[in-house]
Amino acid sequence: MPVTNAEAVKSIDRKARLQVPHQPPPKQKPEERVHNWLEVYEGYDLETAKIEAYRCIQCPAAPCQVACPLHNDIPGAFLKLEDGDVHGAADVFRATNPAPDMCGRLCPQESLCEGHCVVGKKAIPVAIGRLEAFIADYERDHGGRVSPDIAPSTGKRVAVVGSGPAGLAVAEILAIHGHLVRVFEAWPAPGGVLRYGIPDFKMDKRHVDDQVEYLERLGVGFQYNTRIGYDITVDGLLDDGYDAVFLGHGAGQGNKLGVPGEELDGIYMATDFLVRANLPTAELPEWMWDPIAVGKRLVVVGGGDTSMDCVRSGVRLGCEEVCCVYRRTEAEMAGREEERRHAKEEGVKFIFQATPVRFVAAPGENRVQAVRFQKMELGEPDESGRRRPVPVIGSEFDVEADTVVIAIGYKVEKLLYQTTPDLEATDWGTVKADDDGRTSRPGVFAAGDSVRGADLVVTALADAKKAAAAIDEYLRNGAQ
Ligand SMILES: Cc1cc2nc3c(=O)[nH]c(=O)nc-3n(C[C@H](O)[C@H](O)[C@H](O)COP(=O)(O)OP(=O)(O)OC[C@H]3O[C@@H](n4cnc5c(N)ncnc54)[C@H](O)[C@@H]3O)c2cc1C
Repeated sequence: MPVTNAEAVKSIDRKARLQVPHQPPPKQKPEERVHNWLEVYEGYDLETAKIEAYRCIQCPAAPCQVACPLHNDIPGAFLKLEDGDVHGAADVFRATNPAPDMCGRLCPQESLCEGHCVVGKKAIPVAIGRLEAFIADYERDHGGRVSPDIAPSTGKRVAVVGSGPAGLAVAEILAIHGHLVRVFEAWPAPGGVLRYGIPDFKMDKRHVDDQVEYLERLGVGFQYNTRIGYDITVDGLLDDGYDAVFLGHGAGQGNKLGVPGEELDGIYMATDFLVRANLPTAELPEWMWDPIAVGKRLVVVGGGDTSMDCVRSGVRLGCEEVCCVYRRTEAEMAGREEERRHAKEEGVKFIFQATPVRFVAAPGENRVQAVRFQKMELGEPDESGRRRPVPVIGSEFDVEADTVVIAIGYKVEKLLYQTTPDLEATDWGTVKADDDGRTSRPGVFAAGDSVRGADLVVTALADAKKAAAAIDEYLRNGAQ
């Protein structure tokens, strides 16, 4: 008789498991990886992955699962992995996660699953993210994922705006439910920030390609170079016979500093810099085909994950001095500690508590030559709970730079809100939607960064799953 999960868990020897040393995920050394764009992590082999999975003590409360926005059954998957049943482990992850290969690579595990791992109270937490990525990669390389059963066609048509993680997740779920789905994307290729933002050294774009090929096999159609609200409106889509529209247009508009000299040559917005550094011209619109003209000294302004992606791209582009400047202290930085550590290992310098007040041009030229900063000190906490940076009068100083990247956050573009009558949005442009993505317009749903503002892949996926369920219900019952 097969041993059930519950029986297996009862016989767990937690003390023995706690004795097993952490198996560090193999990764490229800094001196090697600065010369290539390959993923920093090279991936576990099966035997090492099984040992690391065995470190999971199968605690009944599974705080890792609770902390995961998708509530992946992490202990359940690892119980299968330690037995060598990798496909079974992949099935467990896929039951809740449409993109385990991506989440394993991109989630801030230290504040989600791994941050709540009970093993982590006494030792290094189980490497949940790297194991999740291993399981998904192994499945792909050993037979691929099993195609799901697709429900009989409902004859209903859904237009998905945006092919980021939210749009792709909604498309998958609705296609499996038997609806006809077409994804409209403004860029020339799919993936949203997964392609047009996140560099290859964090996640190889083959994972996006794999997902899109899989969706095409499910019957999902893709239309690129199409900006909804400009090329055709949401009402135009509904008039064309779409029964529902999903808005997954993300938060892709980079914030500007608004200081003198910001328009000088050599100064880039983060996405402009990242996509031109990372992508072949075939995947860029024609106006981005000029290569970026990086010089020797790169300054990146901002303290989140995007700024780390920019500095580390600058290193790989051959900049000799790369400096990140942030207006608070390192303790207040929003991005992952691991990304900062990787950047420091790769030679990036940091200046804290300073903000640009002017970009200075080279004499007689229109190209940036230096950034004038003003020192900041920390005042009272602001609405984010972090201490507010306050300028120190008379503290200005210059940092030489021939290339500058502005990476100070993103907002939602207002185009869809402005072109869709009765669609309610906040003052910041985020679409007003309830928990399951229903907006003020019947038949129009939204989730991901377009609703939350700039956030995470995993939260976009979690919200998109709820929205897909609501769209399915709407299409079947006409209820909003
Ligand atoms: C540089 C960078 C690095 C990041 N790193 C991480 C990370 O390591 N881990 C993590 O969890 N999160 C990371 N994030 C955040 C994460 O990528 C986003 O939270 C996530 O992609 C949001 O998914 P989404 O589907 O809502 O939107 P997006 O991924 O932004 O996708 C929206 C898509 O909609 C398209 N679109 C917009 N308007 C229209 C329109 N009018 N018509 C048609 N298409 C339109 C856009 O072109 C885009 O392709 C990062 C973000 C950036 C910018």
